[in-house]
Amino acid sequence: MRLNQEQVDRSKQLIDSAKQIVITSHKSPDGDAVGSAMALFLLLKKLQKNVVIVLPDEVPSFLQWIKGYGDILLFDENEAAAKNAIASAALIFSLDYNHLGRTGTAMEKALKGTTADFILIDHHHEPEDFAEVLYSDTGICSTAQMIWYFIDRCGWRALLDEDIASCIYCGIMTDSGSFRFPSVTADTHRIVAELFATGMDHARIHREVYDTNLPDRMRLIGFALSEKLAVVPECSVAYITLTLDEMKQFNYRPGDTEGLVNQALSINGIKMAAFFREGANEIKASFRSKGGFDVNTFARRSWNGGGHFNAAGGSSVETMEEAVKRFLKETERQCEEINRS
Ligand code: 5GP
Ligand code: MN
Repeated sequence: MRLNQEQVDRSKQLIDSAKQIVITSHKSPDGDAVGSAMALFLLLKKLQKNVVIVLPDEVPSFLQWIKGYGDILLFDENEAAAKNAIASAALIFSLDYNHLGRTGTAMEKALKGTTADFILIDHHHEPEDFAEVLYSDTGICSTAQMIWYFIDRCGWRALLDEDIASCIYCGIMTDSGSFRFPSVTADTHRIVAELFATGMDHARIHREVYDTNLPDRMRLIGFALSEKLAVVPECSVAYITLTLDEMKQFNYRPGDTEGLVNQALSINGIKMAAFFREGANEIKASFRSKGGFDVNTFARRSWNGGGHFNAAGGSSVETMEEAVKRFLKETERQCEEINRS
């Protein structure tokens, strides 16, 4: 859905009148979450607004090059300051998530306790109804591209600079699989052309995000692919599991398994892939599909999650064995549907 004039006017009004603005995004922030938040942060700074970014938890190292990274407040590391920022905000942006639970239990509670108005900008299915301005469009490849539309529709294109452009580019690039997913359109490329006009160095952004691996990460990925990849060819399914112990062996750091599920999906003939990672209190699940199998519904139905048609995630409080067993049962039940997709 296009941002309509009423939404633009209301957003500008809310921004104008807010003495303190907070920008938030989801747990385990990815390139789109951080890129979108930082682009909007830098822009609002240029409008002389008092603005803070609050993210639930750690930003992976491959995103720490982003300008303004040092200004981000992490809820789990600095809870008092984060709560204080949220409590004193008149306006809160919810970027790249569709319900407050995606920020984690403690941050969700803080967000639910405020009297601030919310502006939601997001591309996930079925957004929760909590925002004064709800700009939701599941057809757009990234929230960062929506931030570009937001800036454009508000009449702030002239404020775009190299740093803001780099953040938007980072969000589009990471969420679109480097411009390869079906959600990429001619408009995506037109916007990127506009970003280039600021003098942004796109090659540097690719290097920072994709070519800054540590040897431990490469070995963890190698281990996962050679020892932990399982294929169910009769249902066109592949999956990978990693336990805490295994990750510890390779000094796991947040973001180290980013993209691993896509490796499983890249196998010829595989139409649905999953990755299960053990966490302190839960098993985190990632689902991907190529073609017509809807992993958003799959994740929603039985993994307490959601996302997009071809990329979704969820979690479970089962043991790894139980989670995998249930996953295999579910995919077996939907085997025909996956094969047909
Ligand atoms: P990933 O597998 O990369 O963590 O996430 C893929 C997609 O699914 C992202 O768009 C993400 O926002 C969504 N997603 C991941 N985990 C969850 C979850 O626990 N709940 C919901 N609702 N969405 C999730
Ligand atoms: Mn996104």
